[in-house]
Amino acid sequence: MDDDPQVLKVLKRDLTKRYGNRFRVLQARSGQKGFEITKQLKLSHGIVALFLADQRMPQMTGVEFLGKTMDIFPDAKRVLLTDYGDTEAVMKSINKVNVDYYLMKPWHPPEVHLYPHLNDLLDDWWISFRPPFEGIKVIGLRWSPRSHETKEFLARNGIPYQWLDIEDSKEARRLVSSAMINTKSQSHVTGEKHFNTEISSARIDDTSNKNNSKTASSAAMSMSEPYLDASLLHLPLVVFPDGTYMAEPTNLQLAEKIGLKTRAQMAFYDLIVIGGGPSGLAAAVYSSSEGLHTLLVERHAPGGQAGASSNIENYLGFPSGLSGSSLARRAVAQAVKFGTEILEPQEVVELRNDGQYRIAKLGDGTEIRCHTMIIACGVTYRMLDDVKGIDKFTGAGVYYGASMVEALNYKGQDIYIVGGANSAGQAAVFFARYAKQVTLIVRSDTLERKMSHYLIHQINETKNIRVWLNSVITEVKGEYKLERLILTNTKTGKQHDVPASGLFIYIGAEPHTDWLYDWIKRDAHGFILTGSDLRQDELENQGWMLDRQPFLLETSIPGVFAVGDVRHGSIKRIAAGVGEGSTAIQLIHQYLMNT
Ligand SMILES: Cc1cc2nc3c(=O)[nH]c(=O)nc-3n(C[C@H](O)[C@H](O)[C@H](O)COP(=O)(O)OP(=O)(O)OC[C@H]3O[C@@H](n4cnc5c(N)ncnc54)[C@H](O)[C@@H]3O)c2cc1C
Repeated sequence: MDDDPQVLKVLKRDLTKRYGNRFRVLQARSGQKGFEITKQLKLSHGIVALFLADQRMPQMTGVEFLGKTMDIFPDAKRVLLTDYGDTEAVMKSINKVNVDYYLMKPWHPPEVHLYPHLNDLLDDWWISFRPPFEGIKVIGLRWSPRSHETKEFLARNGIPYQWLDIEDSKEARRLVSSAMINTKSQSHVTGEKHFNTEISSARIDDTSNKNNSKTASSAAMSMSEPYLDASLLHLPLVVFPDGTYMAEPTNLQLAEKIGLKTRAQMAFYDLIVIGGGPSGLAAAVYSSSEGLHTLLVERHAPGGQAGASSNIENYLGFPSGLSGSSLARRAVAQAVKFGTEILEPQEVVELRNDGQYRIAKLGDGTEIRCHTMIIACGVTYRMLDDVKGIDKFTGAGVYYGASMVEALNYKGQDIYIVGGANSAGQAAVFFARYAKQVTLIVRSDTLERKMSHYLIHQINETKNIRVWLNSVITEVKGEYKLERLILTNTKTGKQHDVPASGLFIYIGAEPHTDWLYDWIKRDAHGFILTGSDLRQDELENQGWMLDRQPFLLETSIPGVFAVGDVRHGSIKRIAAGVGEGSTAIQLIHQYLMNT
């Protein structure tokens, strides 16, 4: 969009040349006209991938236009075209409308100044885009923890899927009844018994029961044929594009079906990295790029905590931020490109020594040997305790460190977020795009203590976010899902009983190191000690036999390193973890040279 016809013509030419085979390029000479077209697109079920608007247009500036389109196409990428003189004004307004990038005029040659930036944004949009769908379908109950786990697993692995709630989707009920009909036991169709769960190789007859159309009630769903009782079904049901389906699959079963790698190719590696968060991924990229045979084992999905982040704004080189899933996707591609083998979901459950070799035992009992190891298993979310009823609703309206994919389920609703640090702040800003009202519950009397200044600014600027300081949640209530919260002011003791659709908790984390037992030296809180944090007497007790001190980042076991959040004294930031992951590889080279 540009009011200068000459600029508009060239822009359209450049965009069509590069993207015309994948996207339709529409043009407008004013913000007003562009807005009209946007509304028409919405009404005709069109989808917008990216808006590109010039800042200096009469009546409506580019920033104003991009802001107005946020309600209509919140997921579209937004790019602002600016002149040098506009930079300051643009920077000020950039946060208000979530501009993803700003481009300076002129952009020639487009191969250097235009396409690389737009490619990145369009790739990012593509990965989170849910097209009218022929792919994987997940059918379940919205408030079921098992359904939540399956959706979260697919989302964190960047696998597009369509979610169908059996309570309000006719298609969902049709597919479920179809699955039941095709199981071994035909008598299950009555709905009085569970249908057989061993149906991973079964096929869905997608055309059967097309006329089932009665509305569902919450627990028992009435369909013309057959009768389905949701409480008796093994949900979620995951239906694949090839017509096969799985009921209540484990993450491992899903991973195998969708082609993720769960078994190692070799029995021995130069390096095994445990954990696929930013620090483990960085270690894998550097290690494999430098020729070490590297295996990375991740128990859930690559990205770690960062994968749950909606927009990381303080990572070097991304002025408009990037999502955690996008960071993880890029890092995985980079590591695999250099030859890293990634196993997921696979958990390392035990480590031990065999002379100068190290052995990792996986959850499925497989043992893999290596010269060196990097423990990068980060932290797990701390749970809210002393809150009456919280366990009952975990996964049914109450979520710990939920990924941002959940936000779509809370369009127009009231949600609460607990926490006073950056992760809670980011979640509040992101959820506010979808929810009617977001309330941030903070125990302390200020946000300044733990939250970055830029986030506090964004929160203050966002109309539908309110912050309740000196507040804690003391009770959660509901029938089969979260419905109400009791909030207590810690200063006055006053209580508020409020309706709530969702409660998202981001209150810090504990190291995921219980499984290491005494094999490795840890501090009193479970964080792994490395380098000069290890005292001589502790090393001797631990059986350290070398006539040198541990390297920086080396643990009490020679050749085993710890990086990122799991390490005692770590900074708990993505850049810090990435730095440690890459540094550890240099130290591993030194270690290997001397053994
Ligand atoms: C919502 C949110 C937003 C954030 N935003 C920012 C931000 O904007 N900027 C910033 O700098 N930092 C941010 N952080 C902090 C940042 O994400 C962490 O510091 C960083 O992710 C730590 O990386 P890590 O690799 O050390 O550990 P983690 O990210 O915790 O990753 C550890 C990985 O190890 C896996 N794992 C654990 N145990 C095992 C095992 N036994 N076997 C196999 N795998 C295992 C886990 O599944 C996990 O994937 C944010 C954190 C959160 C939660």
